[in-house]
Amino acid sequence: MKNIQSFDFKGFKAIVRVDFNVPLSNELVVIDDTRIRAAIPTIEKISNDGGIAILMSHLGRPKGGPEKKFSLGPVAKRLAEILDRPVHFVDDCVGEKVQKKIEELSEGDILVLENLRFYPEEKSGDPSFAGKLAGLADVYVNDAFGTAHRAHASTAVIADFFPEKKMFGYLMEAELSSVQKVMKSYEKPFTAIIGGAKVSTKIGIIENLFDKIDNLIIGGGMTYTFIKAQGGEIGDSLVENDFLDKANEILQLAEQKGIRVLLPSDSIIADEFSNDAQRLQSASDEIPEGWMGLDIGEEAVEEYEKCIRESRTILWNGPTGVFEFTNFENGTKSVANAIVQATEAGAFSLIGGGDSVAAINKYGLKEHVSYVSTGGGALLELIEGKDLPGVKAILG
Ligand code: AMP
Repeated sequence: MKNIQSFDFKGFKAIVRVDFNVPLSNELVVIDDTRIRAAIPTIEKISNDGGIAILMSHLGRPKGGPEKKFSLGPVAKRLAEILDRPVHFVDDCVGEKVQKKIEELSEGDILVLENLRFYPEEKSGDPSFAGKLAGLADVYVNDAFGTAHRAHASTAVIADFFPEKKMFGYLMEAELSSVQKVMKSYEKPFTAIIGGAKVSTKIGIIENLFDKIDNLIIGGGMTYTFIKAQGGEIGDSLVENDFLDKANEILQLAEQKGIRVLLPSDSIIADEFSNDAQRLQSASDEIPEGWMGLDIGEEAVEEYEKCIRESRTILWNGPTGVFEFTNFENGTKSVANAIVQATEAGAFSLIGGGDSVAAINKYGLKEHVSYVSTGGGALLELIEGKDLPGVKAILG
Protein backbone atom coordinates (compact mmCIF):
# COMPACT_ATOMS: atom_id res chain seq x y z
CA MET A 1 0.00 0.00 0.00
CA LYS A 2 1.24 3.46 -0.90
CA ASN A 3 0.47 6.87 0.51
CA ILE A 4 -1.04 9.42 -1.87
CA GLN A 5 0.85 12.37 -0.43
CA SER A 6 4.26 10.79 -0.92
CA PHE A 7 3.54 9.07 -4.25
CA ASP A 8 4.78 10.85 -7.35
CA PHE A 9 2.24 10.24 -10.12
CA LYS A 10 4.46 11.65 -12.88
CA GLY A 11 4.31 9.31 -15.86
CA PHE A 12 1.66 7.10 -14.26
CA LYS A 13 -1.91 6.50 -15.30
CA ALA A 14 -4.00 6.37 -12.13
CA ILE A 15 -7.48 4.85 -12.12
CA VAL A 16 -9.41 6.52 -9.33
CA ARG A 17 -12.68 5.25 -7.86
CA VAL A 18 -14.55 8.40 -6.91
CA ASP A 19 -18.09 8.85 -5.63
CA PHE A 20 -19.72 10.98 -8.31
CA ASN A 21 -23.18 9.66 -7.49
CA VAL A 22 -24.71 13.13 -7.56
CA PRO A 23 -28.29 14.25 -8.13
CA LEU A 24 -29.10 15.43 -11.66
CA SER A 25 -32.03 17.61 -12.74
CA ASN A 26 -34.46 16.55 -15.48
CA GLU A 27 -32.34 18.66 -17.82
CA LEU A 28 -29.35 16.53 -16.73
CA VAL A 29 -27.55 19.27 -14.84
CA VAL A 30 -25.77 18.52 -11.55
CA ILE A 31 -27.94 19.84 -8.70
CA ASP A 32 -25.52 19.29 -5.82
CA ASP A 33 -21.79 19.04 -6.56
CA THR A 34 -20.59 18.36 -2.99
CA ARG A 35 -19.31 14.90 -3.88
CA ILE A 36 -17.49 16.18 -6.96
CA ARG A 37 -15.78 18.86 -4.88
CA ALA A 38 -14.82 16.28 -2.26
CA ALA A 39 -12.69 14.44 -4.84
CA ILE A 40 -10.84 17.52 -6.09
CA PRO A 41 -7.73 17.28 -3.83
CA THR A 42 -6.98 13.77 -5.11
CA ILE A 43 -7.62 14.68 -8.75
CA GLU A 44 -5.43 17.77 -8.49
CA LYS A 45 -2.60 15.88 -6.82
CA ILE A 46 -2.44 13.33 -9.65
CA SER A 47 -2.76 15.93 -12.37
CA ASN A 48 -0.32 18.42 -10.83
CA ASP A 49 2.28 15.66 -10.41
CA GLY A 50 2.04 15.04 -14.17
CA GLY A 51 0.03 11.83 -13.97
CA ILE A 52 -3.14 10.98 -15.88
CA ALA A 53 -6.27 10.77 -13.72
CA ILE A 54 -8.85 8.28 -14.98
CA LEU A 55 -11.97 8.76 -12.88
CA MET A 56 -14.62 6.07 -12.51
CA SER A 57 -17.89 6.09 -10.59
CA HIS A 58 -21.44 4.90 -10.56
CA LEU A 59 -24.43 7.22 -10.73
CA GLY A 60 -27.97 6.25 -9.75
CA ARG A 61 -29.44 2.85 -10.34
CA PRO A 62 -29.35 1.97 -14.02
CA LYS A 63 -31.04 -1.31 -14.87
CA GLY A 64 -27.87 -2.89 -16.24
CA GLY A 65 -27.32 -1.13 -19.56
CA PRO A 66 -26.68 2.43 -20.74
CA GLU A 67 -29.37 5.01 -19.84
CA LYS A 68 -28.90 8.65 -20.74
CA LYS A 69 -30.34 9.91 -17.46
CA PHE A 70 -27.56 8.12 -15.56
CA SER A 71 -24.68 9.25 -17.76
CA LEU A 72 -21.60 10.74 -16.09
CA GLY A 73 -21.27 13.20 -18.99
CA PRO A 74 -22.90 16.06 -17.03
CA VAL A 75 -20.58 15.29 -14.11
CA ALA A 76 -17.51 15.60 -16.32
CA LYS A 77 -18.87 18.94 -17.48
CA ARG A 78 -19.37 20.17 -13.91
CA LEU A 79 -15.90 18.96 -12.92
CA ALA A 80 -14.41 20.96 -15.79
CA GLU A 81 -16.27 24.06 -14.55
CA ILE A 82 -15.04 23.59 -10.99
CA LEU A 83 -11.44 23.01 -12.09
CA ASP A 84 -11.71 25.67 -14.79
CA ARG A 85 -9.90 23.42 -17.28
CA PRO A 86 -10.84 20.78 -19.84
CA VAL A 87 -11.92 17.36 -18.61
CA HIS A 88 -12.16 14.48 -21.07
CA PHE A 89 -15.12 12.12 -21.14
CA VAL A 90 -15.62 8.78 -22.83
CA ASP A 91 -19.03 7.14 -23.11
CA ASP A 92 -17.92 3.71 -21.92
CA CYS A 93 -15.77 2.47 -19.05
CA VAL A 94 -13.98 -0.53 -20.55
CA GLY A 95 -13.04 -1.72 -24.02
CA GLU A 96 -11.20 -0.52 -27.09
CA LYS A 97 -12.80 2.91 -27.32
CA VAL A 98 -11.65 3.68 -23.78
CA GLN A 99 -8.16 2.31 -24.42
CA LYS A 100 -7.86 4.48 -27.49
CA LYS A 101 -9.03 7.58 -25.64
CA ILE A 102 -6.45 7.02 -22.92
CA GLU A 103 -3.66 6.64 -25.49
CA GLU A 104 -4.52 10.13 -26.76
CA LEU A 105 -4.11 11.71 -23.32
CA SER A 106 -1.03 13.52 -22.11
CA GLU A 107 0.53 14.34 -18.73
CA GLY A 108 -1.82 16.04 -16.30
CA ASP A 109 -4.98 15.14 -18.26
CA ILE A 110 -8.20 14.11 -16.55
CA LEU A 111 -10.65 11.60 -18.01
CA VAL A 112 -14.09 10.66 -16.69
CA LEU A 113 -15.32 7.20 -17.67
CA GLU A 114 -18.99 6.41 -18.24
CA ASN A 115 -21.15 4.98 -15.43
CA LEU A 116 -19.70 1.69 -14.15
CA ARG A 117 -23.15 0.34 -13.38
CA PHE A 118 -24.05 0.25 -17.05
CA TYR A 119 -22.34 -3.12 -16.62
CA PRO A 120 -24.01 -5.51 -14.13
CA GLU A 121 -20.51 -6.94 -13.58
CA GLU A 122 -19.68 -3.85 -11.50
CA LYS A 123 -22.12 -4.66 -8.71
CA SER A 124 -21.57 -8.40 -8.89
CA GLY A 125 -17.85 -7.79 -8.34
CA ASP A 126 -16.91 -9.71 -11.48
CA PRO A 127 -13.11 -10.28 -11.47
CA SER A 128 -12.79 -10.19 -15.23
CA PHE A 129 -14.58 -6.81 -15.40
CA ALA A 130 -12.33 -5.57 -12.57
CA GLY A 131 -9.36 -6.82 -14.62
CA LYS A 132 -10.51 -4.81 -17.64
CA LEU A 133 -10.72 -1.65 -15.54
CA ALA A 134 -7.33 -2.41 -13.98
CA GLY A 135 -5.83 -2.84 -17.45
CA LEU A 136 -6.46 0.85 -18.14
CA ALA A 137 -3.95 2.10 -15.58
CA ASP A 138 -0.76 1.56 -13.57
CA VAL A 139 -2.00 2.71 -10.16
CA TYR A 140 -5.30 2.30 -8.29
CA VAL A 141 -6.62 4.98 -5.95
CA ASN A 142 -9.80 4.51 -3.95
CA ASP A 143 -11.35 7.83 -2.94
CA ALA A 144 -14.99 6.71 -2.85
CA PHE A 145 -15.87 6.54 0.83
CA GLY A 146 -19.59 6.56 0.00
CA THR A 147 -19.29 3.11 -1.61
CA ALA A 148 -16.50 1.66 0.55
CA HIS A 149 -19.01 -0.70 2.19
CA ARG A 150 -19.67 -2.37 -1.16
CA ALA A 151 -17.57 -5.24 -2.52
CA HIS A 152 -17.97 -4.16 -6.13
CA ALA A 153 -15.53 -4.55 -9.02
CA SER A 154 -14.29 -0.95 -8.87
CA THR A 155 -14.37 -0.51 -5.09
CA ALA A 156 -12.68 -3.69 -3.92
CA VAL A 157 -11.99 -6.46 -6.47
CA ILE A 158 -9.84 -4.22 -8.70
CA ALA A 159 -7.34 -3.68 -5.87
CA ASP A 160 -6.07 -7.26 -6.31
CA PHE A 161 -4.60 -6.23 -9.65
CA PHE A 162 -2.40 -3.60 -8.00
CA PRO A 163 -0.66 -5.41 -5.12
CA GLU A 164 2.16 -2.84 -5.04
CA LYS A 165 0.39 0.26 -6.32
CA LYS A 166 -2.87 0.83 -4.51
CA MET A 167 -3.74 3.61 -2.11
CA PHE A 168 -6.47 5.68 -0.51
CA GLY A 169 -7.23 9.14 -1.88
CA TYR A 170 -7.30 12.22 0.35
CA LEU A 171 -11.04 12.00 1.01
CA MET A 172 -10.83 8.38 2.11
CA GLU A 173 -7.89 9.22 4.36
CA ALA A 174 -9.78 12.10 5.95
CA GLU A 175 -12.91 10.01 6.49
CA LEU A 176 -11.01 7.11 8.02
CA SER A 177 -8.95 9.34 10.28
CA SER A 178 -12.05 11.13 11.58
CA VAL A 179 -13.69 7.81 12.41
CA GLN A 180 -10.44 6.72 14.05
CA LYS A 181 -10.55 9.82 16.25
CA VAL A 182 -14.03 8.96 17.41
CA MET A 183 -13.77 5.19 17.70
CA LYS A 184 -10.16 4.73 18.85
CA SER A 185 -8.39 7.84 20.10
CA TYR A 186 -11.41 9.60 21.59
CA GLU A 187 -11.17 11.98 24.53
CA LYS A 188 -13.75 11.78 27.28
CA PRO A 189 -16.45 12.77 27.98
CA PHE A 190 -17.68 11.18 24.75
CA THR A 191 -21.29 11.88 23.79
CA ALA A 192 -23.21 10.16 21.00
CA ILE A 193 -26.34 11.89 19.77
CA ILE A 194 -28.49 9.36 17.99
CA GLY A 195 -31.70 10.53 16.38
CA GLY A 196 -33.66 9.95 13.22
CA ALA A 197 -36.79 8.05 12.53
CA LYS A 198 -36.29 4.49 13.68
CA VAL A 199 -34.39 2.77 16.44
CA SER A 200 -34.22 -0.47 14.41
CA THR A 201 -31.66 1.09 12.06
CA LYS A 202 -29.48 2.40 14.89
CA ILE A 203 -29.13 -0.56 17.22
CA GLY A 204 -25.83 -1.72 15.74
CA ILE A 205 -24.31 1.72 16.22
CA ILE A 206 -25.56 2.16 19.76
CA GLU A 207 -24.31 -1.26 20.83
CA ASN A 208 -20.87 -0.76 19.33
CA LEU A 209 -20.51 2.60 21.07
CA PHE A 210 -21.36 1.25 24.48
CA ASP A 211 -17.77 0.53 25.47
CA LYS A 212 -16.67 4.03 24.58
CA ILE A 213 -19.31 6.63 25.31
CA ASP A 214 -20.22 8.41 28.54
CA ASN A 215 -23.49 9.91 27.34
CA LEU A 216 -26.11 8.70 24.90
CA ILE A 217 -28.48 11.43 23.78
CA ILE A 218 -31.59 10.09 22.10
CA GLY A 219 -33.86 12.18 19.89
CA GLY A 220 -36.14 12.00 16.87
CA GLY A 221 -38.86 9.50 16.16
CA MET A 222 -36.97 6.68 17.89
CA THR A 223 -37.46 8.49 21.20
CA TYR A 224 -41.02 7.26 21.46
CA THR A 225 -40.16 3.59 21.17
CA PHE A 226 -37.99 4.08 24.27
CA ILE A 227 -40.65 6.11 26.09
CA LYS A 228 -43.35 3.54 25.34
CA ALA A 229 -41.01 0.71 26.41
CA GLN A 230 -40.71 2.50 29.75
CA GLY A 231 -44.50 2.59 30.11
CA GLY A 232 -45.08 6.16 28.85
CA GLU A 233 -48.08 7.39 26.86
CA ILE A 234 -46.92 8.45 23.40
CA GLY A 235 -50.22 9.13 21.60
CA ASP A 236 -49.78 8.79 17.84
CA SER A 237 -46.01 9.29 17.85
CA LEU A 238 -43.82 7.14 15.64
CA VAL A 239 -43.18 3.81 17.33
CA GLU A 240 -41.69 0.42 16.51
CA ASN A 241 -43.66 -2.00 18.62
CA ASP A 242 -41.37 -4.89 17.66
CA PHE A 243 -38.47 -3.10 19.29
CA LEU A 244 -39.87 -2.30 22.72
CA ASP A 245 -37.93 -5.14 24.36
CA LYS A 246 -34.78 -4.13 22.52
CA ALA A 247 -35.21 -0.54 23.70
CA ASN A 248 -35.46 -1.72 27.29
CA GLU A 249 -32.45 -3.96 26.82
CA ILE A 250 -30.44 -0.99 25.56
CA LEU A 251 -31.48 1.08 28.59
CA GLN A 252 -30.56 -1.72 30.99
CA LEU A 253 -27.21 -2.32 29.36
CA ALA A 254 -26.45 1.39 29.49
CA GLU A 255 -27.21 1.41 33.19
CA GLN A 256 -24.91 -1.56 33.81
CA LYS A 257 -22.12 0.18 31.93
CA GLY A 258 -22.63 3.47 33.73
CA ILE A 259 -23.67 5.33 30.59
CA ARG A 260 -25.96 8.29 31.08
CA VAL A 261 -28.91 8.03 28.68
CA LEU A 262 -30.68 11.28 27.94
CA LEU A 263 -34.24 10.90 26.68
CA PRO A 264 -36.21 14.12 26.12
CA SER A 265 -38.28 14.86 29.22
CA ASP A 266 -40.56 17.01 27.08
CA SER A 267 -41.58 17.14 23.43
CA ILE A 268 -43.19 19.52 20.97
CA ILE A 269 -46.28 17.67 19.89
CA ALA A 270 -48.45 18.13 16.82
CA ASP A 271 -52.00 17.11 15.91
CA GLU A 272 -50.90 16.02 12.44
CA PHE A 273 -47.66 15.31 10.57
CA SER A 274 -47.40 18.74 9.01
CA ASN A 275 -45.51 21.98 9.47
CA ASP A 276 -48.86 23.73 9.86
CA ALA A 277 -50.12 21.40 12.57
CA GLN A 278 -51.23 22.77 15.93
CA ARG A 279 -48.33 22.69 18.38
CA LEU A 280 -48.13 22.06 22.11
CA GLN A 281 -45.40 21.37 24.63
CA SER A 282 -45.94 18.10 26.51
CA ALA A 283 -44.16 15.69 28.81
CA SER A 284 -42.75 13.04 26.46
CA ASP A 285 -44.53 10.27 28.39
CA GLU A 286 -47.94 12.01 28.53
CA ILE A 287 -48.73 12.61 24.87
CA PRO A 288 -52.49 12.49 24.29
CA GLU A 289 -54.16 10.33 21.64
CA GLY A 290 -54.33 12.17 18.32
CA TRP A 291 -51.02 13.96 18.99
CA MET A 292 -47.47 13.05 18.05
CA GLY A 293 -44.02 14.14 19.19
CA LEU A 294 -42.21 15.85 16.33
CA ASP A 295 -39.43 17.65 18.23
CA ILE A 296 -37.78 17.68 21.63
CA GLY A 297 -39.14 20.24 24.08
CA GLU A 298 -37.48 23.26 25.71
CA GLU A 299 -36.40 21.45 28.86
CA ALA A 300 -34.79 18.69 26.81
CA VAL A 301 -33.06 21.25 24.61
CA GLU A 302 -31.46 22.83 27.67
CA GLU A 303 -30.36 19.51 29.08
CA TYR A 304 -28.98 18.30 25.74
CA GLU A 305 -27.12 21.55 25.09
CA LYS A 306 -25.42 21.38 28.48
CA CYS A 307 -24.34 17.79 27.98
CA ILE A 308 -23.00 18.49 24.48
CA ARG A 309 -21.11 21.61 25.57
CA GLU A 310 -19.34 19.62 28.29
CA SER A 311 -18.22 16.89 25.86
CA ARG A 312 -14.76 16.42 24.33
CA THR A 313 -15.80 13.94 21.65
CA ILE A 314 -19.15 14.13 19.86
CA LEU A 315 -20.71 11.85 17.29
CA TRP A 316 -23.99 13.00 15.80
CA ASN A 317 -26.17 10.73 13.71
CA GLY A 318 -29.77 11.61 13.02
CA PRO A 319 -31.88 14.72 13.68
CA THR A 320 -33.68 15.09 17.01
CA GLY A 321 -36.94 16.05 15.33
CA VAL A 322 -38.62 16.63 11.99
CA PHE A 323 -36.17 19.42 11.15
CA GLU A 324 -37.50 19.62 7.59
CA PHE A 325 -40.54 21.40 9.15
CA THR A 326 -39.42 24.83 10.38
CA ASN A 327 -41.91 24.64 13.25
CA PHE A 328 -40.27 21.47 14.54
CA GLU A 329 -36.59 22.17 13.88
CA ASN A 330 -35.70 23.92 17.13
CA GLY A 331 -34.25 20.82 18.83
CA THR A 332 -32.11 19.81 15.86
CA LYS A 333 -30.93 23.37 15.33
CA SER A 334 -30.06 23.76 19.02
CA VAL A 335 -28.13 20.48 19.01
CA ALA A 336 -26.21 21.64 15.92
CA ASN A 337 -25.35 24.94 17.58
CA ALA A 338 -24.27 23.26 20.82
CA ILE A 339 -21.95 20.98 18.80
CA VAL A 340 -20.44 24.07 17.18
CA GLN A 341 -19.85 25.61 20.61
CA ALA A 342 -18.25 22.44 21.93
CA THR A 343 -16.04 22.26 18.82
CA GLU A 344 -14.96 25.86 19.30
CA ALA A 345 -14.02 24.92 22.88
CA GLY A 346 -11.77 22.11 21.57
CA ALA A 347 -14.00 19.07 21.24
CA PHE A 348 -13.77 16.76 18.21
CA SER A 349 -17.14 16.49 16.47
CA LEU A 350 -18.05 14.06 13.72
CA ILE A 351 -21.37 14.47 11.95
CA GLY A 352 -22.42 11.65 9.73
CA GLY A 353 -24.96 9.35 8.30
CA GLY A 354 -27.75 10.91 6.32
CA ASP A 355 -30.02 13.53 7.76
CA SER A 356 -27.81 15.08 10.41
CA VAL A 357 -25.54 16.06 7.52
CA ALA A 358 -28.54 17.63 5.76
CA ALA A 359 -29.32 19.46 9.02
CA ILE A 360 -25.80 20.82 9.56
CA ASN A 361 -25.81 22.01 5.95
CA LYS A 362 -29.26 23.57 6.33
CA TYR A 363 -27.94 25.71 9.19
CA GLY A 364 -24.73 26.58 7.33
CA LEU A 365 -22.56 25.10 10.09
CA LYS A 366 -20.49 22.63 8.06
CA GLU A 367 -17.30 24.63 8.47
CA HIS A 368 -17.81 24.97 12.23
CA VAL A 369 -17.68 21.31 13.23
CA SER A 370 -14.63 19.05 13.07
CA TYR A 371 -15.75 16.75 10.28
CA VAL A 372 -18.87 16.12 8.22
CA SER A 373 -18.76 12.68 6.66
CA THR A 374 -19.67 12.15 3.01
CA GLY A 375 -20.59 8.53 3.61
CA GLY A 376 -24.00 7.40 4.83
CA GLY A 377 -24.05 3.62 4.90
CA ALA A 378 -20.26 3.34 4.87
CA LEU A 379 -19.90 5.51 7.96
CA LEU A 380 -22.63 3.66 9.82
CA GLU A 381 -21.00 0.31 9.08
CA LEU A 382 -17.64 1.58 10.32
CA ILE A 383 -19.23 2.80 13.54
CA GLU A 384 -20.98 -0.54 13.88
CA GLY A 385 -17.49 -2.03 13.90
CA LYS A 386 -17.70 -3.74 10.51
CA ASP A 387 -14.80 -4.04 8.07
CA LEU A 388 -15.45 -2.17 4.84
CA PRO A 389 -14.51 -4.15 1.69
CA GLY A 390 -13.17 -0.98 0.02
CA VAL A 391 -10.88 -0.30 2.97
CA LYS A 392 -9.78 -3.89 3.44
CA ALA A 393 -8.90 -4.18 -0.25
CA ILE A 394 -6.38 -1.37 0.07
CA LEU A 395 -4.96 -2.39 3.45
CA GLY A 396 -4.82 -6.13 2.68
P1 AMP B 1 -33.00 8.62 9.79
O1 AMP B 1 -32.85 8.47 8.30
O2 AMP B 1 -33.38 7.36 10.47
O3 AMP B 1 -31.82 9.31 10.40
O4 AMP B 1 -34.27 9.54 9.99
C1 AMP B 1 -34.32 10.87 9.58
C2 AMP B 1 -35.75 11.30 9.49
O5 AMP B 1 -36.37 11.16 10.74
C3 AMP B 1 -35.92 12.74 9.12
O6 AMP B 1 -36.51 12.84 7.85
C4 AMP B 1 -36.82 13.31 10.19
O7 AMP B 1 -37.84 14.13 9.69
C5 AMP B 1 -37.42 12.08 10.82
N1 AMP B 1 -37.82 12.33 12.19
C6 AMP B 1 -37.11 12.92 13.16
N2 AMP B 1 -37.83 13.04 14.28
C7 AMP B 1 -39.04 12.50 14.03
C8 AMP B 1 -40.22 12.34 14.80
N3 AMP B 1 -40.27 12.74 16.08
N4 AMP B 1 -41.28 11.75 14.23
C9 AMP B 1 -41.22 11.33 12.94
N5 AMP B 1 -40.13 11.46 12.16
C10 AMP B 1 -39.05 12.04 12.69
